[in-house]
Amino acid sequence: MNVKITSFEQLKKSFKLTKEEEAYSGGNNSLPVSITSHFLSLIDENDSGDPLRKQVFPTVNEEVEEAMEYIDPLAEVDHSITSRLVHRYKSRVAFLTTDICPMYCRHCFRRRFTGNMVGPAKKDEIREAAEYVGNHKEVTEILLTGGDLLTLSNSQLDFMIKTFREKAPSLIIRICTRMVITAPERIEEELLSIFMKYNSAPFYLLTQINHPRELCKESIEAISKFINMGIPAMNQTVMLKGVNDSVDIQEELANKLLFNRIKPYYVFQGDLVSGTSHLRVNLGDTIKIEKELRKRVSGLAMPAFVMDLPQGGGKVPLTDCYVKEHIGKKWIIETLDGEKREYPDTY
Ligand SMILES: *Cc1c(COP(=O)(O)O)cnc(C)c1O
Ligand code: SF4
Repeated sequence: MNVKITSFEQLKKSFKLTKEEEAYSGGNNSLPVSITSHFLSLIDENDSGDPLRKQVFPTVNEEVEEAMEYIDPLAEVDHSITSRLVHRYKSRVAFLTTDICPMYCRHCFRRRFTGNMVGPAKKDEIREAAEYVGNHKEVTEILLTGGDLLTLSNSQLDFMIKTFREKAPSLIIRICTRMVITAPERIEEELLSIFMKYNSAPFYLLTQINHPRELCKESIEAISKFINMGIPAMNQTVMLKGVNDSVDIQEELANKLLFNRIKPYYVFQGDLVSGTSHLRVNLGDTIKIEKELRKRVSGLAMPAFVMDLPQGGGKVPLTDCYVKEHIGKKWIIETLDGEKREYPDTY
């Protein structure tokens, strides 16, 4: 289907919805409904359980509020320096460039902010943030995130990157975007030339790809353009029920990413964001998948499984514990196959 869906009404008219999708009524805290024509073209219309569909078709389950859920589980507001600059970790900051995305993911963890239609950061907000990172030498990296950074026009992007580069020329910039898979046609020469212009420090491309089918010919090409310019690509995946909560899918995804020169960086356990419980995977299952995946894929293809702890606790790795015991001067360590080995202290 070669249309862009921009409202639930339009989605209803264009697709045969399931009962749960049909019953969606929007409501407070709800993300807008928007699906790009490119992403729609990858969805199998005849499969109501399609893993791509599940990421973007709203359902009535979004209206369920569970105990222990939050609208801002990472307490980003508490760690905000300005309304757009989050300084949670000493060496890096996140700048919320815009709240707009070409397509809204139903699992979005930044629902408090995303899709409020406030728009891109104003010039003054950019200057203020650049001033801050320039004055905080401990900050070595900035994440340009949102929303989706690449919804900005080329001239807005040019201004933003120029301003950060002027105040902090050696700051590593992470370009955090899903546009390479939601609207790969956005990755054109003029856009890429902006990154070429301000190359006083490295850029890294951070994508969010959750299922191997999202990596189609067009998106692989779009990502390759960054890599061919010397911008390494890393991927972050969100663990999602019915989308990628199986070892086979995670294995296929990790290998496909690696083959296309995209380093599998993180797999995130779902945050406790209101309205996303139906997409969350049990923590025990995530840890099992991590353990099995580690046996199957190469070290290069293996992402770190992490969880952003509630109430702003920050990210921690999620992995089974292999170092079992420290008895006397000996460590007891388990192999991936569950056997025991010993390792002595040297003093
Ligand atoms: C995840 C995150 C970062 C980056 O963390 P890394 O572990 O370096 O990828 C920075 N700031 C915020 C607020 C984050 O949530
Ligand atoms: S692209 Fe990112 S910010 Fe935008 S809706 Fe999806 S998860 Fe949220």
